[in-house]
Amino acid sequence: MLSSLVRKNIIDSGEAIMKGQFYVNPYLKTHEDGMDGQKKTACNFCPYSSICGFEDGKDGNSYRRLYKMELDDIRKKLKKDVEDV
Ligand code: SF4
Repeated sequence: MLSSLVRKNIIDSGEAIMKGQFYVNPYLKTHEDGMDGQKKTACNFCPYSSICGFEDGKDGNSYRRLYKMELDDIRKKLKKDVEDV
């Protein structure tokens, strides 16, 4: 069930945070531009951009790229992920 996958992801995230494993890892939507022509990223309107130090390509930083998926492909991936829980 989808709720078990969500529960697993929440638990995994909490455990990673408790181990000190959290990374600056903002998304970049590769298939969408904002109204100003910029790529859409988590950083576009982030209030912490002046202090977080993230610069794509600098010091090993890179965006986590999100690719457009068709609805059927999303369903298949979710089904597989739920089966793997
Ligand atoms: S500006 Fe920094 S803190 Fe904000 S989303 Fe981007 S990487 Fe994260």
